[in-house]
Amino acid sequence: MLENSTILIGKEPGRGRLLVAVTSGGNTRTTTIGEAGSVPGSVSRCLPAEGVAHCKITVGADGAMVLANLKQRNVTYVNGTEIVSKRITPDCRVELGCDRYKVDLVGVIAAAGRQTATSQNAASQAEYSIKGLKPVWEEYNNAIKQIRIRQKNVGLLSSVPMAFSMFGGLIAGVMPEIRGFALVFTGVALVIMIIGLYLRFTDKSIEQTEQLTERFQNRYVCPNPKCRHFMGNQPYNVLRQNTACPYCRCKLTDK
Ligand SMILES: [Zn+2]
Repeated sequence: MLENSTILIGKEPGRGRLLVAVTSGGNTRTTTIGEAGSVPGSVSRCLPAEGVAHCKITVGADGAMVLANLKQRNVTYVNGTEIVSKRITPDCRVELGCDRYKVDLVGVIAAAGRQTATSQNAASQAEYSIKGLKPVWEEYNNAIKQIRIRQKNVGLLSSVPMAFSMFGGLIAGVMPEIRGFALVFTGVALVIMIIGLYLRFTDKSIEQTEQLTERFQNRYVCPNPKCRHFMGNQPYNVLRQNTACPYCRCKLTDK
C-alpha cells in the first residue's frame, strides 16, 4: 500500500525524534519514531510542508524503493557506503549524518504503511448517496420496455396477414359464390404485410438499445467522484441493498 508514495525522513524540529512524512495520493501524513532527543544534530530536519528532509524514499508503482540523500551538506549511507541515490530493500542498513544514526528501516516502512492505510481508510469511509441513480434506472428500464413492446407488436402484426389470407382462402373454398368477399380479405392481408415489412425495415430498435445502454452505463455509476464505476445492470431496488461500493469500498446510502 506504499506504492506511488514518497517518504521524507529527518529530525523532528524541537523534540528530536525521527520524523517520517508520507505523501500518497496528494495527502501527507507524519509520524515519529523513537524517544525525544534520540536523533543527533548531524541529521537534517524534516519539514514536510516545505518538502525539506535529510533523505527521501520514493516508492514506485511496483513497490520498488529508491533512497535519495536530499542535502549536499548531509550524508546518507547504505550498507556503509555514502550514496546520492540508491535502490534499497527493507533489509539494507541505512545510516544518517556523520554520527551515523542508524535508521530502523523496517520500522519506518511499517509506520509509513500504517499512515497511508489510515488515509486510504478515511477516503473509503466517505458516504455517498445513490438516490440520484433511481431516475437513471427508471428511465433506462422504461425505454427498454417500450422498445420490447414495439418489437412484440410488429411481430404480432406480421402474423395477421397469414390469418387473413387463410380466412379468405377458406371462404373461397367453402362458399365460392362470395369469392369477391374473400378477395377483400386477401387484399387487406397484402396491405398489412407491406406495412409490417416497412416497419421492420425502418426499425431502429437495435441502434436505440445500444444508445440507451451506453448512456445508462455512463450514468448508472458509483456516486464517489473518484470512482464512477458502472454499477452493473441491476435494478435500483437491488442496488440500494448494497451498503458499500464493491469497487472503491465507499459507503453507500439511499437517503
Ligand atoms: Zn465506487
